[in-house]
Amino acid sequence: MSVRAGVVITGTEVLTGRVRDRNGPWLSDRLHELGVELAHITICGDRPEDMQAQLRFMADQGVDLIITSGGLGPTADDLTLEVVAGFAERPLLLDEALEQRIADILEPLMKRWPDLDFEAVRASNRKQAMVPEGAAVLEPAGTAPGMVVLPREGSGPTVVVLPGPPRELHELWRAAVATEAFREAVVDAGHYEQSMLRLFGIPESEIAETLRLAEAEIDGFGRLEITTCLRRGEVEVVVRHEREAAAARTALEALIGERHERTLFSDDGSTVDEQVAELLAGQTIATAESCTAGLMVARLAERPGSSAYLLGGAVTYVDRAKVDLLGVDPELIERHGAVSEEAAEAMAAGAIERFGATVSIAITGVAGPGGGSEEKPVGTVCWCVQRSGGTPMTRSVRLPGDRAEVRDRSTTIGMHMLRRLLRGEELPV
Ligand code: ATP
Ligand code: MG
Repeated sequence: MSVRAGVVITGTEVLTGRVRDRNGPWLSDRLHELGVELAHITICGDRPEDMQAQLRFMADQGVDLIITSGGLGPTADDLTLEVVAGFAERPLLLDEALEQRIADILEPLMKRWPDLDFEAVRASNRKQAMVPEGAAVLEPAGTAPGMVVLPREGSGPTVVVLPGPPRELHELWRAAVATEAFREAVVDAGHYEQSMLRLFGIPESEIAETLRLAEAEIDGFGRLEITTCLRRGEVEVVVRHEREAAAARTALEALIGERHERTLFSDDGSTVDEQVAELLAGQTIATAESCTAGLMVARLAERPGSSAYLLGGAVTYVDRAKVDLLGVDPELIERHGAVSEEAAEAMAAGAIERFGATVSIAITGVAGPGGGSEEKPVGTVCWCVQRSGGTPMTRSVRLPGDRAEVRDRSTTIGMHMLRRLLRGEELPV
């Protein structure tokens, strides 16, 4: 028996795309961990009829659990609880103790706005303390409580009602999972294990070929649920299975490792960023960037603790900056152009020298849409990674995609070159 769930994201700001939905994907991961199968994520605006329709749709699909996000605030467009109470056929009852607890949260906040109409605040506060009969209350992380609402007479799905702000949703989710009502709803969920492999520099079609082979060769292959996805230039292979099928997973991982030895860089879910961070222990690094203009140094700085090895970066967009800030010979630029392996090498050397780093990376390219030439079309990017006193490792590639994609992909290739350099490996041909 498996347990199925649906997620209903509410909020006109999310529907219109002004706010990107972060709750759907987050809940998807959490459900996955619990072995609950997520059937649908839907998004609707702040119209009660639309929300109602989506709850009904989920129920018609036979889901056991619905999770809603948003619409729990004190304002008139926050209608989720009324709709859910109607859907579950539960009257809304005032929970006076909860009303007091919300008032206690609001009181210090209200001091900041002395002109606020206390009665109006009190009224909206009361609205947030209306609880569908029999529901479990999840204590507010902001001002809005969440709820776990049980279906009437064991018919229909259990509804977990969560606030929209992601931080609040995360906190209340943890409380929701701990309730009796929630545990009851997911009691039949399966126990799954999951692993992730990451490959770089390989077309997705080659993985597909390996999977076809695996299907023919590996016992119990059919019990593995495999998804491959191309993301930021890397191929991710996620394998999910019930505990008993672990041997098939191990066999699959061995086959992929064998066939794609050069391109498989992670079999434990770790990212290239994490691996580079680890490899940089005891080293110092600086970047010299033209077309990425700081994206590479920003990506290195995303990791907490990066100050242990990251010294800085030089954003040298124009030739003059490459000369002045990195000491690149203007004649070299004249001869080979600013987008050249020679320029990348000189920039990397300049970064090592100017920052006093032990490792550097330089990126220079034509991000487009303009600025391309016959010889160096849009998407042409040159990299150089180098250790102080070591042999520079350079590479140039013509990347597909638009300006944003070229710039982003440039940092991914930069990360993989750094990884190779720091592991003492050669670049693949
Ligand atoms: P509040 O009391 O803050 O109004 P609420 O439960 O009513 O809480 P919403 O009004 O739906 O939540 O959303 C409040 C804010 O939270 C949104 O303006 C948005 O910034 C953020 N938010 C809501 N839903 C999402 C989402 N799905 N993904 C990311 N951010 C979201
Ligand atoms: Mg709101």
